[in-house]
Amino acid sequence: QSPVPSDIEISRSQEPKNISVLANEVGLLPGEVSLYGTRKAKISLNVLDRLKDQEVGKYVVVAGITPTPLGEGKSTTMIGLAQALTGHRDKNAFATMRQPSQGPTFGIKGGAAGGGYSQVIPMEDFNLHLTGDIHAVTAANNLLAAQLDARMFHEATQTDQALYDRLVPTMRGERKFSAIQLRRLERLGINKTDPNSLTVEEISKFARLNIDPNKVVWQRVMDINDRYLRKITIGQSPTEKNFTRVESFSISVASEIMAILALATSLEDMKNRMARMVVAFSRNGTPITADDLGMTGALMVLMKDAIEPTMMQTLEGTPVLVHAGPFANIAHGCNSVLADQIALKLVGKDGYVVTEAGFGSDIGMEKFFNIKCRASGMKPNAVVLVATVRALKMHGGGPAVVSGSPLKDEYTQENLTLVKEGLCNLIRHIENVRKYGIPVIVAINAHKNDTEAEHELIKKGAIENGAFACVTSNHWAEGGKGAVDLADALIEACKQPNSDFKFLYELDLSIEEKINRIAKEMYGAGNVEFSQKVRETMRLYAEKGYSKLPICMAKTSASLTGDPNIKGAPNGFRIFVNDMFLSAGAGFIVPLVGEISRMPGLPTRPAIFDIDLNTETGEMIGLF
Ligand code: ADP
Repeated sequence: QSPVPSDIEISRSQEPKNISVLANEVGLLPGEVSLYGTRKAKISLNVLDRLKDQEVGKYVVVAGITPTPLGEGKSTTMIGLAQALTGHRDKNAFATMRQPSQGPTFGIKGGAAGGGYSQVIPMEDFNLHLTGDIHAVTAANNLLAAQLDARMFHEATQTDQALYDRLVPTMRGERKFSAIQLRRLERLGINKTDPNSLTVEEISKFARLNIDPNKVVWQRVMDINDRYLRKITIGQSPTEKNFTRVESFSISVASEIMAILALATSLEDMKNRMARMVVAFSRNGTPITADDLGMTGALMVLMKDAIEPTMMQTLEGTPVLVHAGPFANIAHGCNSVLADQIALKLVGKDGYVVTEAGFGSDIGMEKFFNIKCRASGMKPNAVVLVATVRALKMHGGGPAVVSGSPLKDEYTQENLTLVKEGLCNLIRHIENVRKYGIPVIVAINAHKNDTEAEHELIKKGAIENGAFACVTSNHWAEGGKGAVDLADALIEACKQPNSDFKFLYELDLSIEEKINRIAKEMYGAGNVEFSQKVRETMRLYAEKGYSKLPICMAKTSASLTGDPNIKGAPNGFRIFVNDMFLSAGAGFIVPLVGEISRMPGLPTRPAIFDIDLNTETGEMIGLF
């Protein structure tokens, strides 16, 4: 249809098939599907057990060039490609996606269900609460925060004798230690089986974690862009006896528990990761974990349903698994390992699973390979790199875009000079992919003002620089039919064995060496500098046994450098690591380059103003 209607109009125009019908079509058994109404369902992890001998399908990740405010359309391309594979090439295929945060939905960016004729439907469900996983993450995170502050308060306000008088009778009542208590006693080297035999001194050692209030690293979270929670003082009621503390909220999708949801490979693995999360350090520098606080079981109870992926569908009825939504700037930015594993089993050996990595190849894709694939053991077969004429023009020196103003002529008329100048950015991303030993297909996500000559220029540049193929894709305007060439190129690329896939770095390098490798190989940096504080932190992590973890860089996505204003593909610049934190449960170390906000704010003109509910029809209005 021309012109292409709005995303929400298209989304509404297509009645989704009953999700139980789709579940049956993809080979799920009724007992493996928990219906949430008729349009979405949770999928049980038992599928993995049932299909353990099934060969897996081809694993494809959609990544992008360095994003610009003009948008590249990675999600849209992923969905269009999955639609082409199922609807036009008769392949089994799934798209696997992140669940979007409510922050962007009500803030600037809007939803993330794809666009045009390549969308996940119903987009209202997709963009809002879905099946409650983000709320579960928020609840688990904040229960841990509440227990941490309560524990510090009780320790600070009670004498050893008072602790003894309170704890021993309750343990006596049970007459035995709980599993968590036994683990703690073992860690402390207290070799006793009967609570009655503990001395006051031992009880004190057992009960006191001696958390340093200045070294609490756990933050409360909320899935709302609430800038006023970036820095607050907690504990101001007189009941907390002046034990106040400065606290910072982050958005739920930037939390470690969200990253764990995305990286866990089973319930048991999730439990082990939850137990390992470091929430603070004691006065003598010992890491304090969630398990030290007795929290592991309670966290798992809150997360038990969230660990199951949610099935939805595209406009053309292609199955989609939506699961986990870690931010790509501060976390690793990929959907869950479990969703991908389930989808890879369900499509079988000749099928395809298309997933997405946030931002450019330097950010999302690098973490997809070095963190996610390492955690899961899954080997990708190919990368689809999404580029647009408009974005390349901006990398080539095109004018800045002012939100709300019409696009300048450079972006609406043919301009081969700017495209040519901007190709360096695409080429760098192609080179980045090739370092992992798998084929890269460049997808030009076609926009209405693009010209044939501009596309040809990009194709020539891509092929000359090592892309397996470069194709124009019209999935936004035409749905799956528009992405058939892309699907064919992908099918061809996946005929190659993926045995050459390799990580960028091995884990036994030092933290500093790993960061250097990423900065030089993926960004093009000349040298990496570290603040004094970061050097001390790296020493501490090494001493406490955390240096073998992979690295999750937190850097601006808007540039290959640390400065969002620098476009193109510069070389030899300096990267400055100014801070660092540990996600021991998620299993990575996060170095910060520049200021990265963990709690976005609402703009002067938020999407909120457009959103309404028609109380007669129950229809939502204004989501995009
Ligand atoms: P990304 O995943 O790269 O952030 P999305 O796929 O979410 O980008 O797309 C961002 C927005 O751009 C969506 O609103 C989508 O409808 C729009 N869009 C994507 N591709 C096109 C296209 N070819 N023409 C016009 N608009 C597009």
